[in-house]
Amino acid sequence: MAKKALHISKGVKEAPSVNPSLQTGKRTSRTSTELVKEIIKGNRTALAQGITMIESNTAADQNHARALLNELMPYTGNSFRIGVTGVPGVGKSTFLEAYGNELLKSDEDARVAVLAVDPSSEISKGSILGDKTRMMELGKHDRAFIRPSASGGNLGGIAKKTREVMLLCEAAGYNYIFIETVGVGQSETLVSKLVDCFLFLAMPGTGDELQGLKKGIMEMADIIAVNKSEPPNTTSGERSALSIRSALQLFSSKEFDWYPAVLLTSGLTGLGFNELDAALDRFQRHSQAKGWFDKKRKDQQAYWFENSIREGVFELLQEDIDWQKRYEKLSKAVAEGSLNPFQASAEMIKSLKGKV
Ligand code: GDP
Repeated sequence: MAKKALHISKGVKEAPSVNPSLQTGKRTSRTSTELVKEIIKGNRTALAQGITMIESNTAADQNHARALLNELMPYTGNSFRIGVTGVPGVGKSTFLEAYGNELLKSDEDARVAVLAVDPSSEISKGSILGDKTRMMELGKHDRAFIRPSASGGNLGGIAKKTREVMLLCEAAGYNYIFIETVGVGQSETLVSKLVDCFLFLAMPGTGDELQGLKKGIMEMADIIAVNKSEPPNTTSGERSALSIRSALQLFSSKEFDWYPAVLLTSGLTGLGFNELDAALDRFQRHSQAKGWFDKKRKDQQAYWFENSIREGVFELLQEDIDWQKRYEKLSKAVAEGSLNPFQASAEMIKSLKGKV
């Protein structure tokens, strides 16, 4: 594998998450300042501690987490953020383990973090991603960090926390951050609000390309890799790549003038890793030169700003006992089908008139 030559945009800095004057109490800022120092030094125990704080739902931890993020913001933004998606079984963890290890071998400055956004915790309250022994080798490397998403909670909430975990990893010096998700539709949309580049793994000869098209996932993909294409699957891999390329011609009006690279890869043999290096490099240079690398990040910041407001307002409303009771009653009616969600939400909003 060629030595990496990716350079990260220094132009876009994340804005502080809260006004420092809003941070609560001396203990909060002192505690977080110690943790901040350790995280910036790259101390993995401190990083894990910070992440636990971010993932916690207690009010005290959330205050600490806000203060921590705020102090770390100046140290974030300097990684290449790559989303990796594909159906369960397409080989994502095998691929990330192998590609991550190659990155670390070929570039002594590379520090690789793999984070997972796991929609199964929303759907089944279990975890598809967490129940496997994942990326054992990569996880042992001292320049790698692997973290599954917090289970439970809604997908938007998981994605928000993944974003915050990603920022912490950047502050700790990780410069390649892979965000992995299972291809079920909504999770990709959310992951696309987190990353610079979206890599879609397809299976050879499964008609994945058409499924992907239906879900609009391929529309989001910047690079498509037909995985598991080592011999004897190479011919079916090539066939899939061909049909993906022709299907992609339908999307000639992509927002940015980038036609997704379509490659053949194998996490088992390392097939296509050099081509993927080149495609990532080309994507980054091209997007930076055209200015949409920075634009995308700015748009994402705006999205998360709005998202945080929505979430914060909803949390505030839930503190109101009357509101909460009405919410539960209407939720039940919606679940039973006696009220449609639009009527129910209109009723909830009507009850706020005059209060807000
Ligand atoms: P994930 O669910 O997408 O993370 O997929 P996994 O990485 O767990 O792989 C699912 C199965 O496919 C496992 O049995 C792997 O050994 C196998 N597999 C993964 N990558 C490859 C590959 O490149 N080629 C082949 N032939 N099998 C693979």
